[in-house]
Amino acid sequence: MSNTKVNLTTQNRLIITGLILSTVLIVAIAVFAIFNIQKKLNIGYQNFGQVISKTLAIESIEITRGLNIEETKRILKAHSDVILKSHNDIVYIEFRDAAGNIIYSGRNPHKGEDKVPSITVNSPMITSDGINMGSVTVGLSGNIINEISTTTRASLLFVFTVAWVVFAFVILINTYLITRELRILHEGVSKISHGAFGYKIEGKDVSTEVQELFDAFNDMSNRLHIYEEQNIEQLTLERNKLEAVLLCIANGVVVCDNYDNVVLVNNHAQQLLEVEEKQLLDTKIQQYMDTEGNYCFKDKIEEFKDTPLEEIQNKPIEFNIEIDKRVIKSVISPMFTRNNDYVGYIIVLIDVTKETEMDQMRAHFISNVSHELRTPVTVLRSYIDTLYNYGDEFDIATKKEFIATLNQEIIRLNRMVNDILDFSRLDANATLEKSPNNIMELVESCANQVQVLLKEHNLKISISKSDDIPVATFNYNSIERALINYISNAIKYSPENGEIKIAVTTLNNDNDIQITVTDQGCGIAPEHQKKVFDRFFRVENDTHTVKGTGLGLHLVKTTIEKHHGGKVFVVSEPGKGSTFGFIIPVVPMENKIKMDK
Ligand code: ADP
Repeated sequence: MSNTKVNLTTQNRLIITGLILSTVLIVAIAVFAIFNIQKKLNIGYQNFGQVISKTLAIESIEITRGLNIEETKRILKAHSDVILKSHNDIVYIEFRDAAGNIIYSGRNPHKGEDKVPSITVNSPMITSDGINMGSVTVGLSGNIINEISTTTRASLLFVFTVAWVVFAFVILINTYLITRELRILHEGVSKISHGAFGYKIEGKDVSTEVQELFDAFNDMSNRLHIYEEQNIEQLTLERNKLEAVLLCIANGVVVCDNYDNVVLVNNHAQQLLEVEEKQLLDTKIQQYMDTEGNYCFKDKIEEFKDTPLEEIQNKPIEFNIEIDKRVIKSVISPMFTRNNDYVGYIIVLIDVTKETEMDQMRAHFISNVSHELRTPVTVLRSYIDTLYNYGDEFDIATKKEFIATLNQEIIRLNRMVNDILDFSRLDANATLEKSPNNIMELVESCANQVQVLLKEHNLKISISKSDDIPVATFNYNSIERALINYISNAIKYSPENGEIKIAVTTLNNDNDIQITVTDQGCGIAPEHQKKVFDRFFRVENDTHTVKGTGLGLHLVKTTIEKHHGGKVFVVSEPGKGSTFGFIIPVVPMENKIKMDK
């Protein structure tokens, strides 16, 4: 049930009261007028009856003078009939003698027998001599007076009703005209309050004061419009600046409003989420699906919404999502206006695939190093224990064999410790002392150092070289370790009885020297080839089949590229073998600069 309450203004109440009062007044005047007219008519009618009865009395005396009773009756009847026929309003005429006996009584044939007159008028019949001859009574129907009063009433009612309607109409029109200006002003104010700045109001036939008010309003509206335009320009500028910053930012940024609708996605976010802007804009971020078909933001956004804002401000929600094998760190933080009103949230996306891989590799490295250190130490301990306890019982050859194995393990341990030390030294900005050296001597020395290993694996090694290899300036020890790394890897990954080829050539008009180590080993899959020089990277990281720390090739790359301005490369075919190589300039860059100076 609706409970509608009409609120009337004072003005409306005045109008209604005025209308009611005027209605009451008009009705009272009408009733009074009708009552008065009716009264006057009744008196007039009464007089009319008197005149008729008096005239009849006089006439009757005259026409019956000297007649006997029978003739008198006949004459009176004839006279009455003529009058009754000609006067529709007379119901009956009655003549009586002086004693009051009826001489003649005649009724109007049009009125019927039972018609009761509304007025009866009686006049005595007195002769000029003063003799009472009787009386005449006339009954009048009152029809005329009724008709007249009905017509008069109707006319008066009509006149007063018309007068009332005109009066009411005039009042309403007047009220409408008075409030028209207020309504125009009200409409203008309402438009302005709804933001239609610049809206103008116009008034025709208004007073000067009102026109001034209208002009002031229009002026205010115009000023508001100009202010709004300036403000919009400023806001647009600010927004564009902000958008430009967000769009260019190196991290992905997705901005959502209070209703989870995406309102901004920068280019980087589109790349990371592998979507186009139009696919994401104006959609709910919870509906975004990763490559696996999971709604990867849904749960975290719910968690974000369930957490109090003060808490989330200090500690934004962080989580990782995976899109097409890339790990993307996502951080959800709330957004506030300057007035501290919450308006939505922002999701920052950072590609942490490399860092995650690096973390994994670092973990593998730690486990590899500890594994690698434990193995030679265990071998050394058990061999030394055996020699210490039972050494006297062994012949010289067995003792030599034991010592050779101990030596091998110590060399391996030493190399590993050197690798780890070099890793921190070479990765830092330490400069390596360089001196002119014969590269062929270095190559041959490396080949000699791995003789024992070669023998262990039944492998052959060959060295080829182009003519006139120039003397080059480099850090002997680090280049030696780089080459030893290549050769020991080749030994590690070569099958029994395989051959390892070392080739030394000059390139670029004898300005560069290239050394390659080719084996017939397992080779490296193309997707791993770009990564083998990364630190901690090992193809066998997950299997532990071949020993290593994943540092060797990274050290080679650092030595060659960072410290000698050269280049490392690998060419490999899985199942067939690999060629690892490096190129170093004959004269290092820093020496060239010195020479130029
Ligand atoms: P590690 O010291 O563990 O051998 P490296 O940096 O020397 O580490 O090598 C990195 C990875 O490169 C190795 O795990 C191996 O999978 C691959 N690799 C290096 N040399 C060869 C090669 N000659 N043949 C096949 N794979 C190789």
